[in-house]
Amino acid sequence: MVRFKKVAKRYGSLTVLEHLDLDVAEGEMVTIIGPSGSGKTTVLRTLMTLERINEGVIYVDGKPLTHMEKDGKLVPASQKYLRAMRSKIGMCFQHFNLFPHMTALENCMEGPVHVLGIPRKQARERSEELLEMVGMADKRDQHPSRLSGGQQQRVAIARALAMRPKVMLFDEVTSALDPEVIGEVTNVIRRLVSDYNLTMLMVTHQMGFARDISDRVCFFYRGRIEEQAPPSELFGDPKSDRTRQFLSAVK
Ligand code: ATP
Repeated sequence: MVRFKKVAKRYGSLTVLEHLDLDVAEGEMVTIIGPSGSGKTTVLRTLMTLERINEGVIYVDGKPLTHMEKDGKLVPASQKYLRAMRSKIGMCFQHFNLFPHMTALENCMEGPVHVLGIPRKQARERSEELLEMVGMADKRDQHPSRLSGGQQQRVAIARALAMRPKVMLFDEVTSALDPEVIGEVTNVIRRLVSDYNLTMLMVTHQMGFARDISDRVCFFYRGRIEEQAPPSELFGDPKSDRTRQFLSAVK
């Protein structure tokens, strides 16, 4: 569903992703862990087309993300193509970025109505279902300023899902939260893994959560995957010295 093929990303002389190869299969939950500055967030930002890559190709759902095929060659994509590709991807960030002047329900309906052109009634029903799923049905008429951080993050997850993405990206979604509300957000993500066949790519510093929830964990080191394995293997018997050092430092 997602494929990075020899992707390089540089900022001036700083190489952030170094010929990265990364595959995420349909329905798979892959977690990226690694030291600060190793390029974890950059992977998600390039997938959201928030950053332009310098080399390589990213494929989503079998198609190049930013280029389209024309006469057997890859040419820069049109705005229409880019919009269609972007709509396959949903993202939740550390800071929830909800629209402050809209209620929880309006936040969820905004994209489906104004971007996807879904009739209001249908968008409303779907948004209500999603708010129910994240345990926020009773707060649907509240504005974000009246919600706790954990509640806002759950609305942000519902809002991203309302766009019916094929791939969901989670970037440190619990790191801005108070410890006592982290569980309510991780439980929603657990539910997504167990009940929905979504492809997910997550960056987290919470090793316990990564261990519980992932099909595969990738340890990033200096813009490359140093080691990747199912969580029991990567956490239980890491092969690389760098992975071992990192895991013993964060425990
Ligand atoms: P953390 O765990 O601290 O969030 P990370 O592994 O997610 O780190 P990235 O955010 O992907 O790391 O950043 C990788 C490197 O790219 C860092 O050294 C960062 O300083 C650098 N970087 C990121 N964005 C920019 C930018 N816009 N301009 C220059 N350098 C940048």
